[in-house]
Amino acid sequence: MSIKITGLTHVYNEKTPFEKKALDDINIEIEQGDFIGLIGHTGSGKSTLIQHLNGLLKPNSGNIEINNMDITSKEISLKSVRQKVGLVFQYPEHQLFEETIYKDIAFGPQNLGLSEEEIHRRVLESMELVGLDYEKVKDRSPFELSGGQKRRVAIAGVLAMKPEVLILDEPTAGLDPKGRDDILGQIQQLYEKNNMTIILVSHSMEDIARLVNKIIVMHRGKVALYGEPREIFKRVEELENFGLGVPQITYFMRALKNKIENIRDDIFTVDEA
Ligand code: ADP
Repeated sequence: MSIKITGLTHVYNEKTPFEKKALDDINIEIEQGDFIGLIGHTGSGKSTLIQHLNGLLKPNSGNIEINNMDITSKEISLKSVRQKVGLVFQYPEHQLFEETIYKDIAFGPQNLGLSEEEIHRRVLESMELVGLDYEKVKDRSPFELSGGQKRRVAIAGVLAMKPEVLILDEPTAGLDPKGRDDILGQIQQLYEKNNMTIILVSHSMEDIARLVNKIIVMHRGKVALYGEPREIFKRVEELENFGLGVPQITYFMRALKNKIENIRDDIFTVDEA
């Protein structure tokens, strides 16, 4: 599923003393099957951007087309947008509320008015996708599980909606190293097996370096850089050579580049011009 964002601008608290332009003329195209890493400092506009992608926020100007359908138009139902674009919030386990894991995962599909049979199939499938053992955990309370397991339940709940685009906001935040590796492995498998378009918001260079094929760097509400990791590093180097780099971005990208070189030496090499 392709996403085309044109002239997207969002202003919080417009025409008040607290006015804040959080997104400033964003223009990007994401292709079907892209695995995008969305990075940038706190306050750069990442979460404002992803909330537009599933219709939670409306832009002040600009639009977003998903497979040529303008999801910012008034005629489009939010329900249909959220079915196409699944958003896993930060600490999604805080939103678990049902008494059993089965019920929690079934909640979204139930709201779609699907048959019990289809709901059952989706719960089974999405538990498998995130590596939860159906028979072992379906009747347990989500609150009995470990942090990493709870997070899987929450992600399964989003997958049960069968979205074509999956957005994950800091999916490894607060997990121990093992929980983190497990979740990242699951996300990678999801991507490889399902040909999904995935957008991963992360502060973690490791997460980004391991997984993505394109990177969007946000800076003060704008897309500062967008492209394949190696293109971005080249661009950062050019900017640095001309003394034009934005210091925070340059610092960030250098750290990222080091990580990627360590982790994916064998996948690609970055030209050291
Ligand atoms: P990030 O996800 O990169 O940390 P955000 O999208 O949360 O960035 O924030 C972008 C800017 O918008 C920041 O200056 C932030 O303070 C502001 N902002 C975010 N949410 C709100 C809100 N609900 N009301 C007012 N300002 C907000």
